[in-house]
Amino acid sequence: MANIISVCLTFDVDLADYTETWRTTNEFAKAIPEILTILERYPEVRTTWFIRLDQQVRSIWGYADHFFREYKSIINELIDSGHEIGWHPHCYIQAGGNWKQNVEEAMILEELSLDAPLAQSYGLKCVRMGWGFHTNKTMCLISDLGFDVDSSAIPRPQYIWEETKKDWTLTPLEPYFPSESDYRVPGRPDLSILEVPISVTHVKAPYDLETVLRYINLAYSPDLLRKPLEDWLKQHNHLITITHPYELLPRDKVHGLLAFDMNAFEQNLNTVRELAQMQVGSISFLTISEFANLHWERSHE
Ligand SMILES: [Zn+2]
Repeated sequence: MANIISVCLTFDVDLADYTETWRTTNEFAKAIPEILTILERYPEVRTTWFIRLDQQVRSIWGYADHFFREYKSIINELIDSGHEIGWHPHCYIQAGGNWKQNVEEAMILEELSLDAPLAQSYGLKCVRMGWGFHTNKTMCLISDLGFDVDSSAIPRPQYIWEETKKDWTLTPLEPYFPSESDYRVPGRPDLSILEVPISVTHVKAPYDLETVLRYINLAYSPDLLRKPLEDWLKQHNHLITITHPYELLPRDKVHGLLAFDMNAFEQNLNTVRELAQMQVGSISFLTISEFANLHWERSHE
C-alpha cells in the first residue's frame, strides 16, 4: 500500500476574508463555481468542503444554515460529483461592535450542541473548527455528538504573531485518535473520533525572518509551493491541503504567499499529481471521510 499516496484537497468556506481584517465575502457567488469548473476537468479528484453553519451566520444572514439553504444547488452539485461537505463552525462573539473569536469554552460547547443537530440533518460527518480552535471538552463533545472525523489540527508551534487562539503544539503529522486527557495527541483512553491533521511543512514567504511551518495551501504561488510539496511527499504517503475559495480570486494587491489566481490552484494541483507519480507511484484523491475509512481499515488489519 505504501506506493499509493492519498491526497485530500479541502476547502474552508468562511464567507469572511481574513486578508482584509474580517470582511464578509460571498464565496458561493464567484469563487466556488470557478473552482468547480476546474474540478470538472479532473473527475478522479474528490474534495472536501467545510461550510459555515453557526450562530454568527444566523445573526448576520438570519439562519444558522443560511448557506445550505441559499446554495442548495451548488452543494448538491458537489455531493453528486463525489465531493464531501463538512461542518465548519466559527464561534464568534461580539465585542464593542466588532466580531471576534470566542474562546470561552462554556459558550462554545453550548453553541456546538445547539448547531450540531442541524449540521447532522445535512448528513455532515466531519468537522473542522473555525480557526482550528479546540479544547479537550470541545473535542470530546463532537465525538460524543457522533461525528466520525475532525480535521482541525494544524501541527506547529504557537508563533507570537498569531492573532487567533489555537494549540496544536504537540500534535503529530499523522492521523490519530485523540486522548481523552489531551486532544492534541494520541493516548489511552482515547476518543472514537479520528483526528486528521492538515499537512504542515516549512513554507518560506519572502517576508519571513524565521523558519515558519505553514499548512499546505494550493492557493500559494506555484513557485513557492513546489519545494514544500516535494519535501512533504518524500516523507509521507498522505497529503491534506487547505484552501479558502476567496484566496483564488484576483485582486489589486500583492501578497507574498497567496497568488490570488485560479490558475495557480490548477497548476498546484498538477504539481501534486506530477510529484506524487514521480516520487511515490500512484495517487488517489479522497474525501476526508474516505481517507478516514482507509485509515480505520488499515489500523484493524
Ligand atoms: Zn474558517
